[in-house]
Amino acid sequence: MNAFLAALREQLGEAGLLVGGDLAAYENDWRKRYVGKALAVARPASTEEVAAVMRLCHEHRVAVVPQGGNTGLVGGSTPDDSCRQLVLSLSRMKRVRGIDIANASLTAEAGCVLAEVQAAASQAGLLFPLSLAAEGSCTLGGNLATNAGGTQVLRYGNARELCLGLEVVTATGEVWHGLSGLRKDNTGYDLRDLFIGSEGTLGVITAATMKLYPQPKERLTALAACASLEDAVALLGLARQRAGDALTGFEVMNQASLTLVARELPQLAQPLAPAAWTVLLELSDAESAEHARGVFEGLLETALEGGWVQDAAIAQNIQQAKSFWHLRESIPLAQAQAGLNIKHDISLPVSAIPGFVAEMDAVLAAYLPGIEVIDFGHLGDGNLHYNVQAPADVAPAEFLAAHEAAINERVYHAVQQRGGSISAEHGIGRLKRDELAQRKDPTALALMRAIKRALDPLDLLNPGRLV
Ligand code: FAD
Ligand code: ZN
Repeated sequence: MNAFLAALREQLGEAGLLVGGDLAAYENDWRKRYVGKALAVARPASTEEVAAVMRLCHEHRVAVVPQGGNTGLVGGSTPDDSCRQLVLSLSRMKRVRGIDIANASLTAEAGCVLAEVQAAASQAGLLFPLSLAAEGSCTLGGNLATNAGGTQVLRYGNARELCLGLEVVTATGEVWHGLSGLRKDNTGYDLRDLFIGSEGTLGVITAATMKLYPQPKERLTALAACASLEDAVALLGLARQRAGDALTGFEVMNQASLTLVARELPQLAQPLAPAAWTVLLELSDAESAEHARGVFEGLLETALEGGWVQDAAIAQNIQQAKSFWHLRESIPLAQAQAGLNIKHDISLPVSAIPGFVAEMDAVLAAYLPGIEVIDFGHLGDGNLHYNVQAPADVAPAEFLAAHEAAINERVYHAVQQRGGSISAEHGIGRLKRDELAQRKDPTALALMRAIKRALDPLDLLNPGRLV
């Protein structure tokens, strides 16, 4: 190992390699579920340096864990505790390489923080729509490696749909120069789509070309209280009908989610009285502010008259709109503060969601009285974060040890029966690897394993994750 580390040091210099000392920020995950011990942390500053790292890892048979902002929620971005895996952090590769306004595209390095990519687009007068609560620290490379979703998928799609091209370093240290800004390119297998969502198991993404959009003239945000999830689904249908493509966000939060936020983050204002379900709607209009407001008010009036909505508040200014979003985006933080919980990031046909939630809430209440379901997410995309928290008198760690497997079995069985997915946007990582092996179509799994063997025959890229 000493020869390997010496060779790495030679390639990367002092700033590019961390050995020993406090590496906890690179070794432990955001949720504090996985505690690792790294051989070292490599911090290359260019694509050529990433390629050199991969060549050395190949030569010395060292496993590599690619890492961006380390905000992943499935244990994919941190090393195991063997002290043999190298963390490859992209955090020094932060350059926006260029913006092509006529082509409506932006090319940036993988370590660019998502909020910085958004800001660069905005400075050029355009919109980069990918948005999620971790945007102040997650990176473009991590977003693509996990095919992140977030709050604007309804209108703009997830990271995959926003990507035009990639630059990738392979397991043997070659560079694939695929940074085309082309919207049409039928020249064979789509390698771009292979690397997107591969969670660092097929190659290291070093840069990407992403789509940009016109900035909306107006963005309006509202909260609406619904008595049931059926009513929230009806409101979604109405909003789609009235606003069409202008509907950019449709999020739901159950009462327990907002009660948890009130307890853990009491400084956050909650504009509406507690309701069974609170919906956050966002409308982004390309025509004018007046038009947007007209559509929004008409929509909410109809919903109030129809009884689908009990109460509603439209944000009066940007500050208030931000505070509405902040409320929704603070739920994961409130959960993290409250201690470990059993997370489910599921997707279902929207029509199947009310039935699923009613059945599962009842099943879990019968399974363990006092259990709390913190249920929130992107209803417009059919994606719920159906998280299960310990009863008040049970320690979270004990709860997980005793009940995680049984609860997952119940939840995932009901999801699968309805044609849903066990991972909508967070990925598989270590957390759901065994679940995937049991539940994914066997032919699909065999094809995935064949691809992994072809691209990474020595199993050096993020081993033990995903497949
Ligand atoms: P990391 O955590 O560093 O890595 C994630 C995975 O990608 C790992 O498997 C890693 O090996 C791999 N990887 C990272 N960079 C590269 C690279 N350059 N090349 C190859 N592989 C790489 N996700 C959503 O989809 N939607 C949400 O709404 C959402 N909300 C979140 C809210 C909070 C508060 C938090 C903490 C997380 C949330 N996430 C969400 C999950 C997470 O933030 C996203 O998946 C994000 O895209 C991960 O980016 P990252 O840079 O932190 O990646
Ligand atoms: Zn989410």
